[in-house]
Amino acid sequence: MGVFSAKEFDNHEDVSFFHDEKSGLKAIIAVHDTTLGPALGGTRMWDYANEAEALADVLRLSRGMTYKSSLAGINLGGGKSVIIGNSRTDKTPELFEAFGRAVDHMGGSYIAAEDVGTTVADLEIARRTTRHIAGISEGNCGDPSPATAYGVFYGLRAAVDFKIGKGGLNGIKVAVQGLGNVGYGLCELLRDAGAELVVADVHDAAVEKAVQNLGATAIGVDEIYDQAVDVFAPCALGAILNDDTISRLRVKIVAGSANNQLAEDRHARALMDKGILYVPDYAINAGGIIVISHEGGRFDRERAMSHVRGIYDTCQKIFIRAARERVTTAEVADKIAMERIEKVREEKAKLALAS
Ligand code: NAD
Repeated sequence: MGVFSAKEFDNHEDVSFFHDEKSGLKAIIAVHDTTLGPALGGTRMWDYANEAEALADVLRLSRGMTYKSSLAGINLGGGKSVIIGNSRTDKTPELFEAFGRAVDHMGGSYIAAEDVGTTVADLEIARRTTRHIAGISEGNCGDPSPATAYGVFYGLRAAVDFKIGKGGLNGIKVAVQGLGNVGYGLCELLRDAGAELVVADVHDAAVEKAVQNLGATAIGVDEIYDQAVDVFAPCALGAILNDDTISRLRVKIVAGSANNQLAEDRHARALMDKGILYVPDYAINAGGIIVISHEGGRFDRERAMSHVRGIYDTCQKIFIRAARERVTTAEVADKIAMERIEKVREEKAKLALAS
């Protein structure tokens, strides 16, 4: 298993492996880029089939965080960590204390937050052995999911304004895949704005709640791709935009919170060719990281939420430039993110020369 030769390796600044025999911790922390600030990203606990899979995941996810924070105008770099293990059976306080020591070992170049398989409670345990933890309740922003849902709502509105017209969301039909922390919150905001909801989730109870409380129409998990609605909002899984699903989509817009929605980069072009406006996932789902970036000192929720609403403008800029340059929205998002990093790199190089 090579690190530098891994397909996902992208000039990462640091990839560190941690083992603690007593607690059984096996973790990898990847710092992709710290040009804009310390690398902040979630800690994923997953039962990876092998170490190569864990390495690939942490390399890919940490790179994604660099782009997400840059595009959102945050002064944070990109990083991520993975704990190899089953999040249902392998969690112990000792494991997260050991993980906290691993984070501490990075000396502040990496800041951990919650992610798939970890909770705020787990990170509060890690906080016993390091101060480099974000997104936990005490004096901070707490669970970032409501902010993520709020940001998705604004990105979706930007897409509707651009593609359909500025008539607002009243009567706009949205198919939401996944009614978890973000998906359900998004449904509430959409319902309040007058949108019509079609929903699917593998958990029947979540669907029932949306039907009862929000007047949503329930459909089968696989039927979500065939809906003749205005917007498809993927809020569950990654890689759901692939050859099969894109050929089935009958929507004008794809705008949802799920990470890594495109199965492959070329699927952004396939959506564009079909006349579907794709809102790049890391542009629209940055609400959580934005509120976390407001931690430190006194947390000002209104200021943080106003920053989240900026996702509307970011998305509009992406749509306009993509149309002008006749390229995909995904390409434009990457370009804008990289342009900001390059600019700061140049400024830093000039300052270093001058001193
Ligand atoms: P969650 O686990 O709370 O919710 C996911 C929901 O999707 C669950 O209700 C689950 O039952 C459902 N689901 C799983 N497989 C499904 C399928 N095949 N069809 C329909 N529904 C299915 O997760 P979340 O925090 O709401 O996050 C949702 C997505 O948004 C994830 O991809 C996550 O990575 C991404 N995201 C979340 C945040 C955040 O702040 N929580 C931030 C950025 C990105």
